[in-house]
Amino acid sequence: MTRLACLALTAALLPAAPARAWVQATTREEPHQPLHVADSNCLPMTLHAAGSDDVAFEEVRAAVEAGFGVWNDVPGAYVAFTMTPVASCCRAEFLQQGANANCVRWLEDDWPDEYPPNGIALTTITYAVENGAILDADIEYNGVDFTFGTDCASGRVDIWNTTAHEAGHALGLDHSTAIGATMRPRSYPGDCDLRDLTADDTEGLTAIYPAAGDPGTCLEPRGGLNLDCSPPPDDCGCRAPGARPAPWALPLALTALAALRLRRRR
Ligand SMILES: [Zn+2]
Repeated sequence: MTRLACLALTAALLPAAPARAWVQATTREEPHQPLHVADSNCLPMTLHAAGSDDVAFEEVRAAVEAGFGVWNDVPGAYVAFTMTPVASCCRAEFLQQGANANCVRWLEDDWPDEYPPNGIALTTITYAVENGAILDADIEYNGVDFTFGTDCASGRVDIWNTTAHEAGHALGLDHSTAIGATMRPRSYPGDCDLRDLTADDTEGLTAIYPAAGDPGTCLEPRGGLNLDCSPPPDDCGCRAPGARPAPWALPLALTALAALRLRRRR
């Protein structure tokens, strides 16, 4: 795809710019409840111990923490990310009965066909249909098609940059049409412009999580923290024949940070 074709596709998919550019994601089901972290002033994130194949683990950890950190301590907003201990195993999944983690991991061998092609990263949210409460948010980076880095070098996808964007999704923000916003839908290897929030991003955050609404408590992931992909307890009954998932837990592969990649013509 040429750059022109890519940009044309973007234009075709975006609605006309509203007066307010930031967008809160909603449930797919009517009446489209807005997604949000509920009853907690934090969202605990868990980094997989494997990190990225491209960067030393401690560098990955620092860049990931920096990416989440840009959303912390925004004046007028109460929500913040916390980092749990590193996980020996984490998956993009939500266990209705069992412990969970908001997993941050790289996919190095397979970027699934059902994920957006050319996606740099993907945030998958499980939410409560009834009220849009975010039950689980997992972030996966595409290590199959991209090389990652931490210094904005051309040809490398910056981890801080990408994490800052996906972190916004984990908090319930969808893509923004604001020029330069961290929540704009596209980036490219070497891009570091998403590292810092713009006024549009912070407006969205403070509108969804206004300081006056601080619940004053920081909750663990649903069912407790799971750092090793522990399965649900055997006695939960959730594996019995005929057991159905609760109707309120549906995964939403929310949005990928799509790549703007230039290909030379032969
Ligand atoms: Zn995105």
